[in-house]
Amino acid sequence: MSLSGQYDDNNIFAKIIRGEVPAVKVYEDEAVLAFMDVFPQSKGHCLVISKTAKARNLLEIDGQALGAIMVAVQRLAKAVTTALNPDGVVITQFNGAPAGQTVFHLHVHIIPRYEGVALAGHGHGNMADMAELKMLAAQIAAAL
Ligand code: AMP
Repeated sequence: MSLSGQYDDNNIFAKIIRGEVPAVKVYEDEAVLAFMDVFPQSKGHCLVISKTAKARNLLEIDGQALGAIMVAVQRLAKAVTTALNPDGVVITQFNGAPAGQTVFHLHVHIIPRYEGVALAGHGHGNMADMAELKMLAAQIAAAL
């Protein structure tokens, strides 16, 4: 999908927001939702989305909703660091399929990095073990 087009109300993250598809949630308020990536590129990989903005990408979102996302991203990055003690944290965000975007509801990736541990591929890693994901989510949530 290119940068221009219509927001699809049936994208997987819209379904997660509506509770139609399960997610391993880490944090939620009226504005944002943070949850674990089910194809994690590293241990603790999570995502932050707006619950209110129907924006496919960074170019479409209003500043207030974007601000709420970024405040949550910083909070989650700190909690991930406290909980999992990574050596670094990568924050990524893709706009349009040619840029690597696969889900067209704006989201920001929080990807902890560990010295000497290679990153799994973006969008083609193995599906995580759900019990392990829930344990990681609880550890991160406890550090918020
Ligand atoms: P992007 O390629 O930047 O659009 O990222 C989409 C991300 O969403 C990828 O890292 C996927 O692993 C992740 N993802 C896809 N479906 C789900 C889901 N149902 N729950 C959690 N993460 C998902």
